Amino acid sequence: MTLSRFPLCTLPPEAEALREPVRAFLRQELGGRPHTKAGKSWMGYDAEFSRKLGAKGWIGVTWPKRHGGGEMSALSRYVIVEELLAAGAPVIAHWIADRQSGPLILRYGTEAQKEFFLPAICRGEMAFCIGMSESDSGSDLASIRTRARRAGGAWRINGAKIWTSNAHRCDYMITLVRTSDSPEKHQGLSQFLIDLKAPGITVRPIRDLTGDNSFNEVVFQDVLVSDDSLVGQEGNGWAQVVAELALERSGPERFLSCHALVKELIDRLGPKPDARSAIVVGGIVSKLAVYRQMSLSIAARLNKGENPATEAAYVKDLGTTLEQDIPEMVHGLMESTPSLDGEDYEQLLAYITQFAPSFSLRGGTREILRGIIARGLGVR
Ligand SMILES: Cc1cc2nc3c(=O)[nH]c(=O)nc-3n(C[C@H](O)[C@H](O)[C@H](O)COP(=O)(O)OP(=O)(O)OC[C@H]3O[C@@H](n4cnc5c(N)ncnc54)[C@H](O)[C@@H]3O)c2cc1C
Repeated sequence: MTLSRFPLCTLPPEAEALREPVRAFLRQELGGRPHTKAGKSWMGYDAEFSRKLGAKGWIGVTWPKRHGGGEMSALSRYVIVEELLAAGAPVIAHWIADRQSGPLILRYGTEAQKEFFLPAICRGEMAFCIGMSESDSGSDLASIRTRARRAGGAWRINGAKIWTSNAHRCDYMITLVRTSDSPEKHQGLSQFLIDLKAPGITVRPIRDLTGDNSFNEVVFQDVLVSDDSLVGQEGNGWAQVVAELALERSGPERFLSCHALVKELIDRLGPKPDARSAIVVGGIVSKLAVYRQMSLSIAARLNKGENPATEAAYVKDLGTTLEQDIPEMVHGLMESTPSLDGEDYEQLLAYITQFAPSFSLRGGTREILRGIIARGLGVR
């Protein structure tokens, strides 16, 4: 790995200037919430909170003003996102749209799509989910079978997506489907903006290990969508999805999912932790500092229009490895047992312990990321 892949980035003053107002807003909106809620981090749902954030102008901040955005840099967005995650704010109602659906529409969408979707996303009024995975097509995404066929001036969609986070509460799904048969599986794929209220769509809840309904199966049976729903060019779906994944893998959510637990650990240890605890906390904090710098560096490169997909894979792999170790480290230091009906802190520990295995699955598995890194290093 050459360090030139991660040029040092310092947050500019105009980005840092956002930190205090965002913190003040979060103190006002979230003060006194139970730890378990903060532990849900970016899986926490609160449509009203997202609307309030939108009213502040803190969703879609990098997008053009004519589409409702703030024309700020990706580094300003970084500060907002970092503060939201550090506070464990319930952001999932706008998270996917802000992070990847909106940027995808901005880059590949038609003017009509931009006018319709982007301002509503910025107001925190339109929630999106990611329709990529299918049963037997997760890591091998290009093998998806959900099919769109031309039907007059429209498209008829049949098939099913699985593990779709939050689909039961979303308005739209950006859905990867096969639009033509091709001997090369990466070809013939396209993306559609699908209204989840359209006839023929069934959203079936799937319970995760924590008992929550965080994801779903979404079945499409003769769902008709108009030509206007196609995002970008027909057949260009693979290139579009790969660009989307770079946005999905490099943000601070890849190392701040357990932040509520780390904060609680540090608070409980107090200002004079014993030597063993100090070593553990020091180890966590030093890794967090490095991953943050790597993630910031990627944000700066994305801001310049680059596509650091390999570097994004480093951040997700390192970040999620740390995050999966954190519950065990906390458990090893604290005299408390994870318990779903115990005191608030024990519930937090139980929730994160149960949810942590998913960190290295969602957004691309550890093995797939390491394959991408190996290819990026030229050893595969
Ligand atoms: C909490 C959560 C939320 C999710 N949300 C969404 C969502 O909103 N939208 C969406 O589309 N998907 C979502 N997913 C699905 C996720 O992207 C897939 O689970 C993931 O890509 C893995 O696919 P899979 O489950 O089919 O496992 P598989 O691809 O079958 O993998 C099984 C195992 O085999 C390994 N493996 C597979 N291929 C290789 C290979 N070539 N080399 C080495 N090892 C390999 C994998 O690393 C893994 O360990 C979510 C998943 C989780 C856990």
